[in-house]
Amino acid sequence: MTIAPFLKSEFAQAENIPTDLYIGGEWVPGSEGKRIDVLDPSTGKVIATVADATVEDALKCVDAAAAAAAGWAATPPRKRAEILRKAFELMVARSEEFARLISLENGKSLPDARGEVAYAAEFFRWFSEEAVRINGDIGLSPSGANRIVVQYQPMGIALLITPWNFPAAMATRKIGPALAAGCTCILKPATETPLTAYAMAALLEEAGVPKGVVNVYTSSKAGATSGAILSDRRVRKLSFTGSTAVGKILLKAAAENVISCSMELGGNAPFVVFDDADLEAALDGAMIAKMRNGGEACTAANRFYVQEGIYDAFVKGLTERMKKLELGAGYAETTQLGPVINTAALERIHGLVKDATSRGARVTTGGEPLARDGYFFPATVLDGVPADAELMNDEIFGPLAPVTKFKTEEEAIKAANDTEYGLISYVYTQDLARGFRVAEKIESGMVGLNRGLASDPAAPFGGVKQSGLGREGSHHGILEFLEAKYIAVTW
Ligand code: NAD
Repeated sequence: MTIAPFLKSEFAQAENIPTDLYIGGEWVPGSEGKRIDVLDPSTGKVIATVADATVEDALKCVDAAAAAAAGWAATPPRKRAEILRKAFELMVARSEEFARLISLENGKSLPDARGEVAYAAEFFRWFSEEAVRINGDIGLSPSGANRIVVQYQPMGIALLITPWNFPAAMATRKIGPALAAGCTCILKPATETPLTAYAMAALLEEAGVPKGVVNVYTSSKAGATSGAILSDRRVRKLSFTGSTAVGKILLKAAAENVISCSMELGGNAPFVVFDDADLEAALDGAMIAKMRNGGEACTAANRFYVQEGIYDAFVKGLTERMKKLELGAGYAETTQLGPVINTAALERIHGLVKDATSRGARVTTGGEPLARDGYFFPATVLDGVPADAELMNDEIFGPLAPVTKFKTEEEAIKAANDTEYGLISYVYTQDLARGFRVAEKIESGMVGLNRGLASDPAAPFGGVKQSGLGREGSHHGILEFLEAKYIAVTW
């Protein structure tokens, strides 16, 4: 199967994607024959329907993953690496088709979608390189009586659940390390953006992934189907990316069979700008940290804290830049900011603006949804936002930038840490000692120091507090799918 014909037009893309469930290397309809609509957020119109899996279908995925498990675990690491490398090459070769498909079902602008595809493909390359570096170690026990031999083995069948905001990258960030480690898996993408996942399944098959090693299903019954999979004792791993609320439900479900969990959850990133920052660099960084993916990113700057000496210039500069962003259909060539994902998101974002202004914040640009088809909200800056405004405490997940003033370093750190989340923080200062000092005191798994973008397949991605458990990418990413086996031996 090829996805090359999708280039013909944006709308032809969806027609050429397989839309049934991918189980054991076969494309099969759901057992009840029901379908789920997939919408184009730029118009609100249906672009495709995909199979709606039942619990029975979900359990068939486990059967298929179980049947393939021993063979895949025994496949030489070099062979697994070469298949992942081939997947990387195929994805790079088809990056434009994937970018257009992502734009179509997610709504993000083409530059964002192209960036995502490049990032997504890198996880296949990175983990093809990690597959052949699964090294254990040997030590002498302190008593001298025996050797301590440690080797790593694949955990077993993994359930991978992904969100709609990065339909390609969140899938490859999990499939890459699972396959490199020797695990078979079941991918459940978000129902908003399933087409990218099915196109990915077809690509993996072409790259040489054996039948049953990767299975993909979509379902309107996410809780029931994932619950059934997690209740099956053959399943040993859950890797989830999504909201903290759903993460908590899944942690409880996984507890029943004591399943290993990697949880990449929500964020509420502070973006701290000190008086001594390079203003232009801070504004460039702010635009990336806030507006990449239209603000629909777990890493999105959610709260801007700006020191009093640079505050007015920062608000003015940010307003000017946000005002210039061209809003339009994600797949239109000139678009810089696409629609948000759906009506509920549009209404929630509008509600956050109304709440902030009712508490005294001032809108310097944007602020109202657009009266047109699709789900469009303009880039919005809010000045003087109080700490109790809802958008300072909840993940915004949209193009709103609330800015607030601080006086001292201590005050900034306290405000930055005043949240249950701890995924990423951004700090701008030209004083490197201060930068490291603040970065160490901020409670987050990642810090962008004079950088508005930190995501990198070679670096450990993940959060502290209620932003998650475990790390993806880097060598940490493959360890999430491996179990350490200790053998005590005397020789
Ligand atoms: P979501 O939690 O609503 O859904 C995520 C996935 O879980 C989807 O596939 C969905 O179908 C599934 N799901 C929903 N309810 C479920 C249930 N009861 N049982 C099992 N599965 C269920 O999140 P979303 O709206 O798709 O994505 C946005 C969220 O994802 C944000 O909170 C964002 O911060 C987070 N996210 C985190 C990271 C990270 O790496 N930390 C990356 C991207 C997105």
